[in-house]
Order: sequence, then C-alpha cells, then structure tokens
Amino acid sequence: MDPVSLIRPNIRALKPYRSARDDHHSGILLDANENSLGPVLPHPDALHRYPDPHHTALRARVAAFRGCRPEQVFCGSGSDEAIDLLFRLFCEPGTDRVVVCPPTYGMYSVAANIHDVQVRTWPLTPDFQLDWSTFEAATAGATPKILFLCSPNNPTANDLRRADLERAVATFPGIVVVDEAYIDFSEQASFIRELDRHPNLVVTQTLSKAFGLAGIRLGFAFAHPSVIAHMMKVKAPYNLNRMTLELAEAAFGHTDTLARNVDLLKRERDRLMAAFAAFPAVRKVHVSHANYFLAIVDQAERVYRDLAAAGVVVRYRGNEPGCADGLRITVGSPEENDILLQRFAEVTA
Ligand SMILES: *Cc1c(COP(=O)(O)O)cnc(C)c1O
Repeated sequence: MDPVSLIRPNIRALKPYRSARDDHHSGILLDANENSLGPVLPHPDALHRYPDPHHTALRARVAAFRGCRPEQVFCGSGSDEAIDLLFRLFCEPGTDRVVVCPPTYGMYSVAANIHDVQVRTWPLTPDFQLDWSTFEAATAGATPKILFLCSPNNPTANDLRRADLERAVATFPGIVVVDEAYIDFSEQASFIRELDRHPNLVVTQTLSKAFGLAGIRLGFAFAHPSVIAHMMKVKAPYNLNRMTLELAEAAFGHTDTLARNVDLLKRERDRLMAAFAAFPAVRKVHVSHANYFLAIVDQAERVYRDLAAAGVVVRYRGNEPGCADGLRITVGSPEENDILLQRFAEVTA
C-alpha cells in the first residue's frame, strides 16, 4: 500500500510555507525581523532567534534512541498535535470516517469531531482486547481512513495482544495508528520496529508520561517517510519552541533516570494494585501494563467525590463502555500512594 494515495489531494498538492531559515541559518541574520538586541529578559539561550523548523537535532536523537531513521520521525506539541495533523492529512471533513475502539483515549473522537469526521466504534471485548468477531460490521461501508489503537490502552491500562495489533496493521485498508504513550512501562516491544514492513503504520509516543515532561509539550509520530514529509509540510513552521526542543534533546541523555523512575513506578503500581484488590469495596482490579490502573469499586462515583474532598484526585471512568464503577488511578510517588491507600480505606470504610 502507498500511504500517499490516502492523503487528501489538497494536502498532496500543498506548497509549504518556506520559513526564513530554510536556506541560510548562520551569519549576520537580518532575514526574519527578529530582534538582534536579544530578549527583554536575561536567558542564556538564543531566545530572540526562531527555533529550527526541521527539528534536525531532536529527530536524530529520537531516531537513535528508538531504532529508526530521522526521516521516520515527526515532533509536535504533544501527541495531540500529531493526532490533529493525521486528520488534516487523511480525512476529508464531512465525508471521511475513522474507527476507534472504546473504551479508549477520548482525544481521537474529539479530534474527529473538530474535523467533522465521522467516528465508527469497534468496541473492545470485556477483557479489553480487539474483537475480530465484530470487525466486519464495524468497518462495513465506505472504507475508514484511520483506525486508532492504543496499547497500553487508556483508561484500561492493558496491552493489546501483539498478534492482534499485527493482524490489524496487516489487514486494515487504511492508516493504523498505534498510540504508545505508555510503551516504556510495558514489557511489549514498540511497533516502531515494524515501520519498514508496514507503510500504513503510524506509531505515536510522548515525553509526557515515562519521561515526566508533560509540561514541555513534546510528542512524536513515527511513520513512513512520505507520511512524515507531509506532516512536516502541514504543521506550523515553528510548532516547537527553543526551550522545548532543548529540554527534549537533553532528556535522551538521562535514560538512566528514565529506567529508574519507570522501575519505581511499576513496583509502586504492583503494591497499590495488591492493596486495592484486598479492599472490601473493590470488586476488580484490571491488569495494568502502565503507570495507572483501573479498579472497579462499589459506589465509584461517590468514592471519587469523597476522595477528592479528602485531597486525593483520581479519575472517574464509570461512564466509559465496559468500565461501570471504574476509577482510573495514576501511580504517584511512594508518599502519595501511602496517603491514597489511607484515604481510600477511610472513604470506603
Ligand atoms: C497521555 C496520553 C497521551 C499524551 O498526550 P500528549 O499530548 O503527548 O501529552 C497520548 N495518548 C494517550 C492514550 C495518553 O493517555
């Protein structure tokens, strides 16, 4: 499959904005109406200069870390920007449709609604895996442009089975997005390694979770070079600021801390899950391959409110399909987790 054939004709024909720094970026820079006197506040970096629109250094850094090529990497303001751009690339407003697998991350449907793109649902099984018995029905009619899969899935926290992901990527006739926001907590290998075999595959990742950098807003899409080239063409020229680029590059020099933090969060997760399983008010604790877990709790909505009133904020997910009475609980620091357990015991006593 040639993924370019799925791209909207106006995007294929688009001549991108050429920014001042596309041709020259050293010398006496009097080409971009910047302020050569510098920023109004003291800062060590060249904040009076526009950032690199091509993200050359960061893409090389990420590609080396994840085992792919720089031309397979897109960097955006969170994964949210990558998701938004995928709609702009592939989906004709008012005409095209996408498929999502509830219960899952809400952003795919919100982005679809923003772009006036129809959402078909392909619900997960009761144990939150892909359900091939309903695949035909869910994808019947006009071929959907994008299938969104999330593994580990949010809010359920489980990995989708690898064989199912492979089957989806191999058989779905459009773009398959595998959202790997939580992949560094999982024992599963990233699908980035499958990019060369599947031109219709897009993998998204983020620095917001395992890297602990939600505040800098940095997300990635990994895909066929021609898809990435079109994303680069459509994005705002200076979508990432200098501080974000600098901190994101630096983050890949601290992978020892990444590994240590992931390890601690997984141990704390297992401790919390065991403690929750023993609470009388907890009916089920779903398996987790991430830094959060889904617990099914008697009177979940009341417990959510009482916990918040006691100063501990979790997420009520009871309105999601298959998640009745579900609370999604993020693993905190060891001290925060102790307080969570104490407050949960009090509000469910
Ligand atoms: C948190 C999360 C993201 C990350 O979004 P950013 O915009 O990169 O912060 C992406 N996908 C899922 C499923 C998430 O839970």
